[in-house]
Amino acid sequence: MSNFNVAKFGGTSVANFEAMSRCAAIIESNPNTKLVVSSACSGVTNLLVELANGVQDQEHRSEILKQLAEIHDSILNQLNDPTQTASDVYSILDTVTSLAEAASIQASNKLTDHLVACGELMSTFILTQLMKERGINAVRFDIRDVLRTDNNFGKGEPEVETIAQLAQQSLVPLCHDYVVVTQGFIGSDEEGNTTTLGRGGSDYSAALIAEAVKAAGLEIWTDVPGIYTTDPRIAAKASPIPEISFSEASEMANFGAKILHPSTLVPALRHDIPVFVGSSKEPEKGGTWIRHKVESSPLFRALALRCNQTMVTLRSAKMFHAYGFLAKVFEILAKHKVSVDLITTSEISVSLTLDQTDTSGGAPQLPEAARLELEELCTVEVEHNLCLVALIGNNMSESKGYAKQVFGTLEDFNLRMICYGASPHNLCFLVHESVSKLAIQKLHTELFEG
Ligand code: ASP
Ligand code: MG
Repeated sequence: MSNFNVAKFGGTSVANFEAMSRCAAIIESNPNTKLVVSSACSGVTNLLVELANGVQDQEHRSEILKQLAEIHDSILNQLNDPTQTASDVYSILDTVTSLAEAASIQASNKLTDHLVACGELMSTFILTQLMKERGINAVRFDIRDVLRTDNNFGKGEPEVETIAQLAQQSLVPLCHDYVVVTQGFIGSDEEGNTTTLGRGGSDYSAALIAEAVKAAGLEIWTDVPGIYTTDPRIAAKASPIPEISFSEASEMANFGAKILHPSTLVPALRHDIPVFVGSSKEPEKGGTWIRHKVESSPLFRALALRCNQTMVTLRSAKMFHAYGFLAKVFEILAKHKVSVDLITTSEISVSLTLDQTDTSGGAPQLPEAARLELEELCTVEVEHNLCLVALIGNNMSESKGYAKQVFGTLEDFNLRMICYGASPHNLCFLVHESVSKLAIQKLHTELFEG
């Protein structure tokens, strides 16, 4: 299927009946859209995470369950024929009830994944029915039959080859006859246990599925009309970017802009699938295309901000003129599955920031066991409340003079860590959370509003 398009809708895009109807209109407007990937209705995953963490107070638990029922009821009530769908949704809510009780006795990552997956399982029942009622030949598909991951609950690692095989067997044939509606975020391990790809993982799911079905395009519909030069809530003069290259966008996804899950572009890049990002609320506004080749490659493209950064500094005199120190550090981090974002080194110390994408939320923590092992090697210092500011652009490592402009603008700021040179597309640094927005505003004015 050469024009096969996959469309993904985020939580706010499927928040209620009107929002879901807008999604259906977007799906109708592109006859090549054969596969729809949906998040849970807005707010649902947060409630499920709360239950999964173990709510002991039974009254509070019932209150959360009631909220979950209300969110879905309000959409079900507006369907023409909700009977079957309501019974499907309610049977999942029963599962949620018993899992929440189990979690209140003993929480576990495995249980959490089973529980939080229920949001997408419910939203897709409703979206499918709504689409059918508009005359779309829609069918719901349980993506756990295809999206195989390892059993690292909370942040499953997809098994790309198996996913492709399973998709070719069971998903692709279905797409010839139907518009298939399926879940983002969730998958299953070899034993059939439900897993998730980590918070915000639906984008990544959509990209993995697009790759597996060999799609020609991937649309990510969210609540912002594409990627902007920076977050317009921080700098009012931020402007939309119509087109951006994969290389620039991957630096953005990794280093800040919360628009896409950081891993989304990996499968898209592997298979050269153009990705569109737009707002399902205002599809007429257009959005951003992320492609291999773009028409213009400006020096400065965007400014991204990511807060909740944890910085770890390791110091040891043993590092001085020695070899193998960093290898040992990374061996320990790898063993504890700690993913590192940034790194800078000096003669006797190394600073790094930790990546955060699992279901726990909050600032990433250095696992205690990893800390203890590192402490056998060196001193370990952990700092929180930092934000990462990333300037994204082109040919930055070969251009002259702009560092003066950037750092001159920030002369009053304490820059905690600076990374530059590894990529021609990015210069980034850490600042304290309390001044992070100001840093973005100043830089945006200086570099983008001239
Ligand atoms: N529903 C999941 C979350 O809120 C996944 C997603 O929406 O991307 O994290
Ligand atoms: Mg999202």
